[in-house]
Amino acid sequence: MPSIASTLHQATLRLGGASPQPEARLDAEILLCLIMDCPRSYLHTWPERELDAQHAQCFMTLIERRATGEPLAYLTGRWEFWSMVLEVTPDTLIPRPDTELLVELALQRIPMDGPSWHIADLGTGSGAIALAIASERPACHVIATDRATAALTVAQRNATNLNIHNIEFREGHWLAPLQGETFHLIASNPPYISSLDLRLSTSDIRFEPLSALASGIDGLDDIRIIAETARQHLVTGGWLLLEHGYDQGDATLQILRNLGYQEICGHRDFAGMDRVVSGRAPA
Ligand code: GLN
Repeated sequence: MPSIASTLHQATLRLGGASPQPEARLDAEILLCLIMDCPRSYLHTWPERELDAQHAQCFMTLIERRATGEPLAYLTGRWEFWSMVLEVTPDTLIPRPDTELLVELALQRIPMDGPSWHIADLGTGSGAIALAIASERPACHVIATDRATAALTVAQRNATNLNIHNIEFREGHWLAPLQGETFHLIASNPPYISSLDLRLSTSDIRFEPLSALASGIDGLDDIRIIAETARQHLVTGGWLLLEHGYDQGDATLQILRNLGYQEICGHRDFAGMDRVVSGRAPA
């Protein structure tokens, strides 16, 4: 039977090609830990130990799936966001570190104490944004919507596993399940990739739900819909925070300006890219 060291070496070559990247090695180690149900330190402490046949077989199956581009998050079924380990499935977008900016901007606006704010997260997916805000502001009431029943089930499970109880999950498209309700802050990471973008069919994102990625020819269809309908669901001065693509900052600012939002501002992510636009609802 092959040793841990040689198995990892072969898997890294398979994932990384001729000159393996450190990422390929890391992916291989993470997947082997998953199969062997052990911490990474075990692999480094016992490199000469042999794998049993069943583990070796399961591991190679996962390596082949990863080699075709299937994201690591879907192979492990979990992903970290805002220091929380979330369950993710192919029904949910994989939370990106960029989106932590949206959470930070929301938290800067939500008071630590005082009257409890009503907050909405539209298109919650795995629940990442709603869970991060709800955990940091336990006195607030957060409503998370998604039209995908399967995604909402995952988000609900994440809330239960993380013991976060100040979130209500509602099924429906954007603000549709929030008829007659108003909020102090509405946040969303909607789909914003152009439906013509070839990455949708060629890169690893092809494994993620298209409905969470693509939004019309210019990628802005959902941002337009949300910005327009959110006005009726915000208290005067309430905040709208929208994530967008790195090259959509100006267009998103303009959409909010045309709709009469105030104190409109663009924000850059940790990579220095335009990523979020914020604005306040007019009276
Ligand atoms: N940020 C993601 C990407 O570019 C897209 C997520 C989204 O459309 N909201 O891969």
